[in-house]
Amino acid sequence: MPKLFQDRTQAALCPFCGVKILRPVEVEGGQWYDFAGGFCDCGAVFALDPTARNGGAAFLQALVMITDGDMDRAMGLSEGEDYDVGYVSHYDVEQHHVDPHAFGTLYFIRPRTGADG
Ligand SMILES: [Zn+2]
Repeated sequence: MPKLFQDRTQAALCPFCGVKILRPVEVEGGQWYDFAGGFCDCGAVFALDPTARNGGAAFLQALVMITDGDMDRAMGLSEGEDYDVGYVSHYDVEQHHVDPHAFGTLYFIRPRTGADG
């Protein structure tokens, strides 16, 4: 028998600045935005893959979000030079927290200062 339900959940935090993020919402303003996402005050953007099966696409969306929807420019950026990447796995979008049993992944990208050249 499993033990009584334990609360092992925790808030979803931005991997760059450690601040609690807002719940992902539908992202408006771009044809590429299929996933819910959002923005952090530190400049990071994030996109949610709720199934853990669309990781590449969710990551790509986050990348396009930092270029304001410019896919060509997004494709020209390099990880570690123009932006940094972070992840929050086991994210439960329904309850908006991290749960060991949840499957969602948040893909974070933060553009580096001066990357916009
Ligand atoms: Zn942040």
